Amino acid sequence: MLFQIKGKKRFRNPEKKMHRVPCSRCGKETGVPFRPRLGRPVYCRRCFARVLKEKKAKEEAND
Ligand SMILES: [Zn+2]
Repeated sequence: MLFQIKGKKRFRNPEKKMHRVPCSRCGKETGVPFRPRLGRPVYCRRCFARVLKEKKAKEEAND
């Protein structure tokens, strides 16, 4: 019996419109697939991961 191995999942829109915005944390320009809302911080990938980590740590500390 033959099994077909599917390739990597493709993103629906690889060339999705990106909004160029400066990262709220390091100031580096980054692209986000959504329209950034006024007053909402936007992070580059690196900072986003850090912010998530910090948030998690905070939540754990508050517990
Ligand atoms: Zn950043």
